Amino acid sequence: MAEKKDFKITDLPGVGAATAEKLEEAGFNTLMSIAVASPADMVEIAGVTEATARKIINTARNKLDVGFQTGTELLEKRKNIDRISTGSKAFDALLMGGVETNAITEVYGEFGSSKTQLGHQLAVNVQLPKEQGGAEGMVCYIDTEGTGRPERIKQMAEALNLDSIKILDNIKFIRAFNSDHQMLIISKIEELIKNDKLPIKLVVVDSLMSHFRSEFVGRGTLSERQQKLNKHMHDLLKLAENYNLAVYITNQVMANPAIFFGDPTTAVGGNIVAHASSIRIYVRKGKKGTRVARVIDSPNIPDSECVFKVTEGGIRDVE
Ligand code: ADP
Ligand code: MG
Repeated sequence: MAEKKDFKITDLPGVGAATAEKLEEAGFNTLMSIAVASPADMVEIAGVTEATARKIINTARNKLDVGFQTGTELLEKRKNIDRISTGSKAFDALLMGGVETNAITEVYGEFGSSKTQLGHQLAVNVQLPKEQGGAEGMVCYIDTEGTGRPERIKQMAEALNLDSIKILDNIKFIRAFNSDHQMLIISKIEELIKNDKLPIKLVVVDSLMSHFRSEFVGRGTLSERQQKLNKHMHDLLKLAENYNLAVYITNQVMANPAIFFGDPTTAVGGNIVAHASSIRIYVRKGKKGTRVARVIDSPNIPDSECVFKVTEGGIRDVE
């Protein structure tokens, strides 16, 4: 896709120096990144009105030479996508095969709903041969809450009769201490893949928002938070697409006061996270210690649910 070399963000209508700076900091530094943004994201990030956001985006779209792909080319590309098993057949079926590479999979739910357990299980399963629900790859596990447990990986590996030492050696755990560190780690992962040639097929971020939430409190900081978050999500998506790997992120929840009927539980992070995630799954506690997973919005999966459980051996079907 062609990008005009002499392009400056301030050439766009309604974009002065201050807005340009906000956009650039948030990763909107090319025509392409602006052309594919949603007006809601831009309102959230740059603090412009929706009308201005639409004008900026449309102008960027008009300036861009878009490269079309045929359906056949796209289908061919999608053949390279691996699907990592969750450990539960019902859950895999819900996801049309498993957690996809080339995409961001977001799981949100209240404390104890099994988001972290799922991250551990995927870190084991991604190492399996493809015909057994793996992608024959390594893992980067970004832990922001200090809940990553090698002991738990060992248990899950042994339950599958795998060599737990080998499995643990293929998982690079890293503790992120703040949001800047969390963002820096993404570029370090790219170096591990590009320079050290590590076959990383899964990046776990557990959880995405904990640092962003605690560092940016109060109304005045929301726009700055969303700018950084937008950059982070774009970096993750680029990683997923450029290296055909799966990004698994967990997310915290809040009660949405605007929902009067049904379950008011909503993921935190706003539009930015919602739009960047390729698939969103809401997990909650079900009957008799089970867990229920629900696909919230996906381009190719109908909204539907499945039931699974967490056992000592890991994520499994409910008989
Ligand atoms: P979240 O990350 O969503 O807060 P977790 O993934 O930490 O939740 O899920 C915690 C749940 O996982 C526990 O409530 C428990 O039911 C289950 N669990 C954790 N470890 C084990 C284990 N060794 N054996 C069986 N179940 C476990
Ligand atoms: Mg957790």
